[in-house]
Amino acid sequence: MSASPHRAPGYVEGRPDVVVVGGGFGGVSCVRALRRANANVVLVDRMNHTLFQPLLYQLATGVLDDSAIASPLRQVFARQSNVSVLRASVDGFDVDRRCVLAGDLEIPWDHLVLAAGMKTSYFGNDQWEAMAPGLKTLDDAHRVRGRILEAFEQAEYVRVWGETDEVRPWLTFVVVGGGATGVEVAGAIKQLAVDRLAPEFKDLDVARCRVLLVEGGERLLAAMSTKSSAAAAKTLRSYGVEIRLETRVVDVSPEGVTIEQGGSREFVPARTVVWGAGVAGNALGAHLAEAVGLETDRGGRLEVSGDLTIAGRDDIRVIGDLARVPIGETGATVPGVAQGAIQMGTYAGRAIAARVAGRAPTKKPFRYFDKGSLATVGRGKAVLDMGRLHIAGFLGWLVWAAVHIAFLVNFRSRIAAMGSWAFAYIFQTGVNELITKPAAPRAPLESESEGSST
Ligand SMILES: Cc1cc2nc3c(=O)[nH]c(=O)nc-3n(C[C@H](O)[C@H](O)[C@H](O)COP(=O)(O)OP(=O)(O)OC[C@H]3O[C@@H](n4cnc5c(N)ncnc54)[C@H](O)[C@@H]3O)c2cc1C
Repeated sequence: MSASPHRAPGYVEGRPDVVVVGGGFGGVSCVRALRRANANVVLVDRMNHTLFQPLLYQLATGVLDDSAIASPLRQVFARQSNVSVLRASVDGFDVDRRCVLAGDLEIPWDHLVLAAGMKTSYFGNDQWEAMAPGLKTLDDAHRVRGRILEAFEQAEYVRVWGETDEVRPWLTFVVVGGGATGVEVAGAIKQLAVDRLAPEFKDLDVARCRVLLVEGGERLLAAMSTKSSAAAAKTLRSYGVEIRLETRVVDVSPEGVTIEQGGSREFVPARTVVWGAGVAGNALGAHLAEAVGLETDRGGRLEVSGDLTIAGRDDIRVIGDLARVPIGETGATVPGVAQGAIQMGTYAGRAIAARVAGRAPTKKPFRYFDKGSLATVGRGKAVLDMGRLHIAGFLGWLVWAAVHIAFLVNFRSRIAAMGSWAFAYIFQTGVNELITKPAAPRAPLESESEGSST
């Protein structure tokens, strides 16, 4: 039997229902833009929090804790009286009856906004996921952090037992993908080892860990300028990160990674692999596309009109990473970045607010305003592109830090992030380097165990 959740406190009979699916950058900015709308807004997310994905790598390397980058959606919207938050996993849409389907629930809409984002893509090799976690959720970041920290512990463990051949694979970290995520993760692992763990591991030279960054294209940070890309590569190399360009990962196993460059293959023994190579559209995009008779593009995105509606339906909008929004006639599309999702969310929210108020929404189509791109490259260094301006180094990092603080969802997160960065900078230690799911204790190799006891 289906049920409607619409009897939440604050629900006002007779007002239009606006359902926003996804409480990420796009969904949150859309709901905020609806704050004065005379509507019942329901924000549905399968998680109870909104997540600042650009800083996930800092959670994964112990610099930040959860509260700095994630905030409960109920807390974020506690003071917005026209919103009810519903934690539910959406699995489909009945576009004829105008209902979002979430298990047994049917959530009726007058206006629907889909902002469900992307998922990690392994390009058809989903079996690699178990060995090479991506970074998309808090859970992913916990998993990556656990594996990185565990790898250093295991290296020490095998060293103690004299399994010297095993030390190197445990101290080898392969990061797949040379976009912003890969660059940031690779730099942060080296930084973790050199600045923070090296003084703590007294008998093992963890600073000499091998961090291998594998990128299929001919340069890092392909979405940024060649200047920034070169600056990032130079800085990473100065830390000792090994960069392999025009190199593809062709296999991932618990023992390591097989890479291919120019037709020749190489096996890299490595116990820790982090996947930052690709994303694909959330399945909800395909479900909605099918329901309205559209097709998604290769990346799983839906083509939207200038006003972000789809398939001539003025009640359905798609925003954020899931929306394919052309930029002029160039053939380029709005990139899958936070600022694109925020701008679309604001545009869609305002358009719906106008409709709800009986006004015609703006006739101006959505226009993406590119405010620039940033990526950190290790401790206190970042690269920045803003139009013709390219900055690298500490100044870039200051801008990076200011922008990230400004875009964190609320005051509490900002304070938590600033506190953690100051802590890391002054004391050279992370805020959370805890392994909460230790690997099962492993017996040493039999012969060596016998050898070491005699
Ligand atoms: C590791 C990483 C680093 C990044 N770094 C940067 C960066 O430096 N700069 C930048 O601009 N961008 C960066 N991005 C991209 C940026 O985070 C995205 O462009 C942005 O999050 C897209 O916003 P969105 O609202 O479309 O989707 P999201 O923010 O992904 O939100 C989607 C929401 O939908 C919810 N959801 C999904 N499926 C369902 C379902 N079935 N039912 C209910 N809810 C569902 C999810 O729980 C989530 O809350 C990064 C992304 C990642 C993963």
